[in-house]
Amino acid sequence: LSKENGKNIFSFYNTDLSIAMIRKQQIETELRKAIQNKQMFLAYQPKVDLKTLEIVGMEALLRWKHPELGWVSPVEFIPVAEESGQIISIGEWVLHQACQQNKRWQEQGYHCICVSVNVSVLQFQHGKFLETVHKAIQKSKLDPQFLELEITESIMQNIIESKEILESLKRMGIKTSIDDFGTGYSSLSVLSKLPIDTIKIDKAFVDELEVTGHYSTIKAIIDLSLNLNLNVVAEGIETEGQMKILKESGCTTGQGYLFSKPVDADEFETILQKIDFIKI
Ligand code: C2E
Ligand code: MG
Ligand code: MG
Ligand code: MG
Repeated sequence: LSKENGKNIFSFYNTDLSIAMIRKQQIETELRKAIQNKQMFLAYQPKVDLKTLEIVGMEALLRWKHPELGWVSPVEFIPVAEESGQIISIGEWVLHQACQQNKRWQEQGYHCICVSVNVSVLQFQHGKFLETVHKAIQKSKLDPQFLELEITESIMQNIIESKEILESLKRMGIKTSIDDFGTGYSSLSVLSKLPIDTIKIDKAFVDELEVTGHYSTIKAIIDLSLNLNLNVVAEGIETEGQMKILKESGCTTGQGYLFSKPVDADEFETILQKIDFIKI
């Protein structure tokens, strides 16, 4: 009996694993044609000044709609792109798109804001990364102060090399922020030795605020960041309550569904129109 059960269990796992593997394989294959076949675009989500509610920036987020697979989340396809190496070419495309779009909006006379682009650690550590960023700036003619790169704490695994890259970016006039802060293993005191501009507090901390009523962790992150002269952005704000606590804790900037979901470029333009009554 036990042998039979064992067999069944084995085949059950086997099937499960196969389905996951087939899906992954499919994503990897389809990803290769996604940009060329115009299945990808960037969505933009505003970053808001928590005091004035003014839009002070936007984050570019990659979207993929496949004709058969439907919408595939970046949470699913970015890791596949990283594993297969495709993140390098996809990331380059994202950078160009974001810089060009931001420049276009600036030329149309909208209020100039910074666009934040997510950069995978593999991209960041790739030998041609700085060259790629330089090209995106040069080609789009975007003033580099309006580009920010969001990187995660995992760059700390290679701290000496990362510091050099960050210093080069700073020399180029490009801003950097540490995304999803608090989910990795780095401490703010170590991070502060790196030339970064902003700390983005992970949504997990924001989620907790109203549930536990414990603000001490988030307050500590905010205080320390401000003491180190870093800007602080809270991500994933969904309620007025969360916003209030964050504001009272000294957080200056926020992002989340409370203000707006990520929207496509056309829809973001209507947001820009609302904040800018006077167009040049
Ligand atoms: P992230 O950089 O931390 O981006 C924030 C994610 O939280 C986005 O998910 C955004 O849509 C979502 N979000 C924002 N506000 C709220 C909120 O109030 N509630 C909830 N529930 N979610 C909110 P998205 O677009 O699915 O992206 C997921 C992750 O995929 C990103 O996390 C980022 O790590 C990665 N990603 C997205 N686009 C790119 C890209 O162009 N390049 C790279 N390397 N990674 C990307
Ligand atoms: Mg991000
Ligand atoms: Mg984030
Ligand atoms: Mg995140």
